[in-house]
Amino acid sequence: MPATSANSAAPANDQLLDYVTSCALPTPWAQFTLHAFVEHSTGKEHLAMVLGDIGDGAPVLARVHSECLTGDVLFSQRCDCGAQLEGALQRIAQEGRGILLYLRQEGRGIGLVNKIRAYRLQEAGADTVEANLQLGFHADARNYELCKPMLEQFGVKKLRLMTNNPRKIDALTRLGIEVSDRVPLLVNRNAFNNNYLNTKQAKLGHMMTPPAVPADQAPSPAAAPDVI
Ligand SMILES: [Zn+2]
Repeated sequence: MPATSANSAAPANDQLLDYVTSCALPTPWAQFTLHAFVEHSTGKEHLAMVLGDIGDGAPVLARVHSECLTGDVLFSQRCDCGAQLEGALQRIAQEGRGILLYLRQEGRGIGLVNKIRAYRLQEAGADTVEANLQLGFHADARNYELCKPMLEQFGVKKLRLMTNNPRKIDALTRLGIEVSDRVPLLVNRNAFNNNYLNTKQAKLGHMMTPPAVPADQAPSPAAAPDVI
């Protein structure tokens, strides 16, 4: 099993979570190393997928992905999570270097059953933010404080973060994690999640507009069906 210099040391215990162990994780795009952490306060198991030497001080291509069982595992087209997860892993594989943190905060932090309740409310006309508020939750209950000790485990200090969410960049910056660059991740807009993505842009400030491409370099719609 390939080992990186950053993960062979003894687990770096932190007040928030423990580093436990790792294994090789072959995927269709690259063989990552999968690292397991356990959060003290909840017992939740969080993951990091690492490729290449990420502890050398140079900015690291990174994705901070919050669990979405319906999107990541069950192929839901209600959101863009599954496509973002796959796209992020593909980009890391293309570079041969990067990290994906997989945080177990389902449904923007409200849990799976409550997310399904929220979907039910959306079927009755609420948007994704209104549904969470009707259930008594914040629009976005996610917390990124675990990212800092997880990244410190691998010696990562600067991120080139794959995200459309400026709040995530702000949250990480407040935690003392430097985001040196934002890499847009615009994937899988479809008829089922179009309103959802528009709501995330309008109410949660997500940056969903593709970067401008010179006309002579613009791909045809057929060549880029995932970017609208
Ligand atoms: Zn999702």
